[in-house]
Amino acid sequence: MTSADSTSADIVILGGGSGGYACALRASQLGLSVILIEADKLGGTCLHRGCIPTKALLHAAEVADAARDSGHFGVKASLEGIDMPAVNSYRDGVVGRLYKGLQGLVKSRDVTYVEGYGRLTSPTTVEVDGTTYTGRHVVLATGSYARSLPGLDIGGRIMTSDQALNLDYVPNSVIVLGGGVIGVEFASVWRSFGTDVRIVEALPRLVPAEDEAISKAFERAYRKRGIAFSTGVRFASATQDDRGVHVTLEDGTTMEADVLLVAVGRGPRTEGLGYEQAGVAMDRGFVLVDNYLQTNVPGVFAVGDITPGLQLAHRGFAHGIFVAEHIAGLNPRPIDDVTIPKVTYSEPEIGSVGLTEAQARDKHGDDNVTVYEYNLGGNGKSQILATTGFIKLVQLKDGPVIGVHMIGSRIGEQIGEAQAIVNWEAYPEDVATLIHAHPTQNEAMGEAHLALAGKPLHAHA
Ligand SMILES: Cc1cc2nc3c(=O)[nH]c(=O)nc-3n(C[C@H](O)[C@H](O)[C@H](O)COP(=O)(O)OP(=O)(O)OC[C@H]3O[C@@H](n4cnc5c(N)ncnc54)[C@H](O)[C@@H]3O)c2cc1C
Repeated sequence: MTSADSTSADIVILGGGSGGYACALRASQLGLSVILIEADKLGGTCLHRGCIPTKALLHAAEVADAARDSGHFGVKASLEGIDMPAVNSYRDGVVGRLYKGLQGLVKSRDVTYVEGYGRLTSPTTVEVDGTTYTGRHVVLATGSYARSLPGLDIGGRIMTSDQALNLDYVPNSVIVLGGGVIGVEFASVWRSFGTDVRIVEALPRLVPAEDEAISKAFERAYRKRGIAFSTGVRFASATQDDRGVHVTLEDGTTMEADVLLVAVGRGPRTEGLGYEQAGVAMDRGFVLVDNYLQTNVPGVFAVGDITPGLQLAHRGFAHGIFVAEHIAGLNPRPIDDVTIPKVTYSEPEIGSVGLTEAQARDKHGDDNVTVYEYNLGGNGKSQILATTGFIKLVQLKDGPVIGVHMIGSRIGEQIGEAQAIVNWEAYPEDVATLIHAHPTQNEAMGEAHLALAGKPLHAHA
């Protein structure tokens, strides 16, 4: 079906971030008419304030580390300093080119793009500046915002990732509140740029969503890099003045720094958008959906960060594509968060997919889980890069590999094969028959599976 005019369509999508625009592109590919409504910039958080700009900063950080550590490789170079405005303009160049490309893509796909702030006014209508857009289906994709804590106001030296991304100087010292993925990535960038960094995490370990062995190795690596952290302790209060921010923890510890980054998670952007009034069931602001990403209101779907679960751009893409294909009647396979690959792009990097060892033991019982760690010490390319780390496999006893967890410089690049292994429910013997190029870090994936299949090559039995 194609719409008769520009205010009605098969699908009206509210929000043009990863979830919303992926849905729009796939739906139009399938011959559905689409109206895509975006209040700010097409591309959303990931392109403008998330994945892409932070990874550009992390790459600049890697270049700084390479200059600083060049002597290790016999190369005479030195790090003279960080020109933050120049770093920012490199980052903006990357974002700008991708933004232009995305705008062109949406234009070329015959999507009706509406610029403006929308509100759901009924299960089939969204209103923008007095105009009503009607869809046979409505997809809610309004994304997320950086949360703070009660009593902690954002402003001045106290900032979220939104402001931290746009600093035009390198702070001398930073306190990072939150040792999850966003917090540790910023900590990594700043440390590489020469900042004194301290992370405060309320849970017992950094990157607490990862396998415990990964957290431990990560903490060791951060300690070695001179990144300080306090875990298992909660934030109590913060004040700021001309000299800096002054933070007190619940155990009475006080600390000071130039800047406080609040990285305590992201909340769903769903307030005041008419969702509840239209009868959409919510839980603490998140939109509840079934396996088909449909809300309790027939015809209304929700994708991406506003649904409970992992907040990742590629999950948003997958959600958007799923909903488009479901509406088009293609019967796509529902998306399970446990199958979604995750990468933390710090130095060192973390890549993981599937169940952690603890989750696997919980779900399948201690006797039914086998675990193997392949140390990157035996991997030629990792030695060349001067990185340490490991690949940990979690296997259902005599069965498929159900979790892959990795740590080391650049190891996130190995997530592709890891997710194929877990999602195809490969047995170690299956992977052991595949040939991995030498010398690559990817080889470590092959070696880990060779070992688990009982025929280790560059590893002790
Ligand atoms: C610092 C940081 C780093 C990150 N790094 C990564 C990473 O490396 N990899 C990764 O996978 N994920 C990363 N993420 C997460 C990723 O950005 C999000 O998971 C992803 O953007 C979610 O997509 P979404 O479509 O659900 O929401 P969003 O991208 O937030 O898009 C929602 C869109 O809806 C629009 N909108 C909201 N309300 C309205 C309204 N009423 N009317 C019209 N439009 C509206 C917003 O303007 C926005 O453009 C990062 C996030 C942050 C903050």
